[in-house]
Amino acid sequence: MKTTLRTDLTVGDICTGFEYDSAEGKGLYGWGGKLTIQPEYQRHYLYAEQGGGRERAVVDSIMRGYPIGLLYFNQLGDKFEVLDGQQRITSLGRFTKDLFAVDDAQGNPQYFGSMPTAEREQFLTTPLTIYTCEGIESEIKAWYRTINIKGLELNQQEIDNAIYSGPFVTAAKKIFSNSTSPKLNLWKNFVKGNVKRQDFLREALEWIVKSKDDKAVETYMSQHRWDATADDLEDYFEAVIAWACATFPNVREEMCGLEWGRLYETYHTKTYDVAKLAAEADELFAEDDDIIKDKRGIYEYLLSDKTLTKLLHVRYFSEAVKRTTYDKQTQEARAEGKSNCPLCASGKGPNAKKIWERKDMDADHVTAWSKGGSTTAANCQVLCKFHNRLKGNI
Ligand SMILES: [Zn+2]
Repeated sequence: MKTTLRTDLTVGDICTGFEYDSAEGKGLYGWGGKLTIQPEYQRHYLYAEQGGGRERAVVDSIMRGYPIGLLYFNQLGDKFEVLDGQQRITSLGRFTKDLFAVDDAQGNPQYFGSMPTAEREQFLTTPLTIYTCEGIESEIKAWYRTINIKGLELNQQEIDNAIYSGPFVTAAKKIFSNSTSPKLNLWKNFVKGNVKRQDFLREALEWIVKSKDDKAVETYMSQHRWDATADDLEDYFEAVIAWACATFPNVREEMCGLEWGRLYETYHTKTYDVAKLAAEADELFAEDDDIIKDKRGIYEYLLSDKTLTKLLHVRYFSEAVKRTTYDKQTQEARAEGKSNCPLCASGKGPNAKKIWERKDMDADHVTAWSKGGSTTAANCQVLCKFHNRLKGNI
C-alpha cells in the first residue's frame, strides 16, 4: 500500500463542486466530482446536530488559522473517497453553500456569501493536510481500522501537541513530559496521571488558563506557539506547587489530583497558621471514614476557614442510632402531648403536636459537628425534614 502526505490542496479545492443531499443528510461529492465524501460505510453527517456547534467550530478553526487535523483519502484510480474527515469536509462544504452561518467578531451571524471578498479568499486558500492511500481493499480496511483504533487513540493533549507543534511545545515538553526530571517526585504528590501521556503538561496548562481569562488550553497554545520558552507556564506551575507545599507540608495521598490551581487562585493571598492547619488536618484525617466520607475535601474545608463543611460529605448517624433516638424522642413527646420534632413542638404552628413518622425525620447534631459536636448517640436528635434543612449547618 502506498501512502502520500499532501499539503497542496486547499479548502477551496476540496469544496469545488460540493454537493450536499439534504434529504439523506450527507455530503456527496467534492473536489470537482473527484472525491466521494460519504462512502457507504461512513456515518451520516452529525456536525449539524445539537445546534450545529461542531460545524461552526470547524469553520471557526479555518478562519482563525487553526488546523482541523489530518484528513484521510483512499485513492481509487483517478478518484478518491474519504476514509476519515467526512464530517469536517461536509462542514466546510455546507458553509460555502451558505447552509449555515458563523458569528463574526461582533457576534453577528455571517454567511459565507456575505463575507468580504478578501476573507472569502483567505478561507478558500487555506491549505489542508491530507493523507492519501492506494492499495487493495483489505489493506485499506486494515489501515482504516488502525487510524480509528481505540488503543492508538491520542488523548487531547497529545493531539494538541501535534497541532500546535513548535518551540513552545518543545520547551514545555522538556519541563513537563520528562520522566527523569528530578522535580517529578515532588510534583507527583499533587498531580495525578502519566507524565509520558502529557498529563502533567495538561494540568500545568489548565492551571494557567484558569488563572487568566479561562480560555481553552488550545487558545493558549495557539497564542504561545512560537514562544521560544515555556517560562511563564513553568513559573506559574512552580508557584502553585510551592504554595501547596508550604501550606500543607505533610504529604498525603488524598492531596494528589486536587484542583491546586484553583485552590491557589482562591486562597493564596490569605495567611494561614501552618502548624494549626497541620494539627487540624491530622485530627480530621483521623476521623472515621464513615463520618467524613470525602477526606479529599479536608484541604479546601480548612482553607475556607471551615466554612465549606459540605465538602467533607460528613455522614452523621447510623440508622441504629437514628432509630433509638427517634423511639426515645417520640415516646417522650407522646407523654407530653407535643410534637416529636422539638422545633415543631416549640412553635405555635399546626405541627406543634404532630407526631412525625420516622421516615419523615432526619438525624441531626445537637451541637454542630463543625463546632466540635460528636457523632454519637448523646449528641443526636431527630428533626422533621423541614426543620433539619432549616438548621442547615452540621
Ligand atoms: Zn419540625
